[in-house]
Amino acid sequence: MPLVTTKEILTKAVAQNYAVPHINISNLEHFDTILSTAAKLKSPIIVAFTTGLIKYYGDEILEGLCSAASKKYQIPFAVHLDHHKDPKDIFTRIKKNKYITSVMIDASLVDFEKNVAITKDVVEFCSKKGISVEAELGAIQGTEDDHSSADAFYTDPNLAIEFIKQTKIDALAISIGTVHGCVTKLAPSLDLKRLEQLRKTTTIPLVLHGCSGLNDEQIKTVVSKGIAKINIATEFKVVFHDGLVKYLHEHPTETDSRLFFGAANKNVKNLLESKIKLFNSENKG
Ligand SMILES: [Zn+2]
Repeated sequence: MPLVTTKEILTKAVAQNYAVPHINISNLEHFDTILSTAAKLKSPIIVAFTTGLIKYYGDEILEGLCSAASKKYQIPFAVHLDHHKDPKDIFTRIKKNKYITSVMIDASLVDFEKNVAITKDVVEFCSKKGISVEAELGAIQGTEDDHSSADAFYTDPNLAIEFIKQTKIDALAISIGTVHGCVTKLAPSLDLKRLEQLRKTTTIPLVLHGCSGLNDEQIKTVVSKGIAKINIATEFKVVFHDGLVKYLHEHPTETDSRLFFGAANKNVKNLLESKIKLFNSENKG
């Protein structure tokens, strides 16, 4: 099916109170496993490319993947550029890859006025092409792929209202205590009151990044309180790595990469199935 925007996917998620998984793609194997698993459970899905992934494979390979997947899988899915900091990068990528339906401009580390100005530029460009724009207000701590931030600044609900009004973005990434790159399951303390206030005072879909470190109860709580898009990257990298290491440890002379990648992908598939059920996005595609 033709790809859809995250705006379309998330509007439905907000209305029906479930969350859509946003998975950062690490490699080519990973891409197809994510899509085929979502298709099996009929869940909408957002596959995300970071600048690091694009640098690694190049635009042509990634466009080819998106094109093939749009023919093969009959579920609503969006191809999203994650944590792009330079609007020029976004504009170049969109010109090169006609399958991109969604972008995130992350100007969260500059001051409010500059964040508004940069984000507005991206919205102006993307809205003409029917591409959704997510932006971040506040800053999420931690490291994820080629993106890192040392300090966390929680999202101010009053500024969020102003930010959305001025920029006309389609979705807002908020900072309420999650950490990028965290899989310790130490249950980061979440500012749920802030989330409730943000949900009450804004109308667009709210996005939570850095969710690898949240336990199942926390995920259920943030979904029930209105988070419509949940970004997960690190947890998928960890299970892929663990599957690969275990298989090669048990079969040290195996040279058929389809077998050891197959074992790694099985972990990815199982993890995504559990997330789709937890987010309640099964059969919503
Ligand atoms: Zn993120």
